[in-house]
Amino acid sequence: MKDWGLIAVGLLVIMTNVTSDRTVIVTGGAQNIGLAIAKGFHADGATVIVADLNPPDDNTLLFRKTNVVDEDSVTTLMEHVASTHGRLDVLVNNAGIAIEVPIKDMIVDDWDRIMMVNVRSVFLMTKLAFPLMTNGVSKNPAIVNISSIEGLAANPNHGVYGASKGAVSSFTHNTALEYGPYGIRCNAIAPGWINTPFNEQFLEQYPNLEKVTSEIENLHPVGRLGLPEDIANTAVYLASEKAGFITGQEIVVAGGRMAKLPLPNL
Ligand code: NAD
Repeated sequence: MKDWGLIAVGLLVIMTNVTSDRTVIVTGGAQNIGLAIAKGFHADGATVIVADLNPPDDNTLLFRKTNVVDEDSVTTLMEHVASTHGRLDVLVNNAGIAIEVPIKDMIVDDWDRIMMVNVRSVFLMTKLAFPLMTNGVSKNPAIVNISSIEGLAANPNHGVYGASKGAVSSFTHNTALEYGPYGIRCNAIAPGWINTPFNEQFLEQYPNLEKVTSEIENLHPVGRLGLPEDIANTAVYLASEKAGFITGQEIVVAGGRMAKLPLPNL
């Protein structure tokens, strides 16, 4: 039986000018970690499409307004990439949101909203990218999911966020297994404490910002907090041919924090 979806994508490829550059989609690439990832791939010579609700403040990146929880919106994104670029080599599922709420006070809407943005989006993007990544022109196709160390261990009041990131980690394993035979690798990056406004808000709760920053730095054997570029560098590597024997893995990028057993601050 013919696979008309694949044939349609193949025809689109013939009808468009396919460049030799890799084409990369970064969800949630308008700011912070996603923007650093998008810039990292752009610096590596790729054509980068930011799929976000808002545009990035950087005109070297292409932008497609996309709501990653919405199937129609993701379908439209993939159709655009097929007709304009004819290929998709790398998908970075980075869009994500968090809330801070104790389990006993959490309402069903909180749970559903976080699960939609953090988990449903990864499923939709991964499923709908498949025809484009297997149309015969993708170079070393790879998917990189952004999970979190909070999928591996807990911070209080982050129950749904942690559960969503654990799900991303698990889905990464399945994607690696199911897409592996088609030549697509899939890995996750679990960032630790990355200096972004989300964490700045946490720090600002404390009157002695210098003290709390230095306490948090001390949790990290490398002696500093993470930068969005730390995640970007790892994403570019994981999507490259140099990582060709790595799939189904979750790489913790957390300055060694997860290697350190807590001791009382005596
Ligand atoms: P951020 O809030 O600065 O950026 C998230 C981006 O996702 C925004 O541009 C936003 O517009 C976009 N987005 C949200 N909902 C969307 C939707 N429905 N459709 C399309 N785009 C949507 O977050 P960040 O700090 O840069 O984090 C990026 C990723 O890294 C997230 O998945 C987050 O969970 C993960 N992470 C962050 C940290 C950290 O310390 N900042 C640590 C671990 C993991």
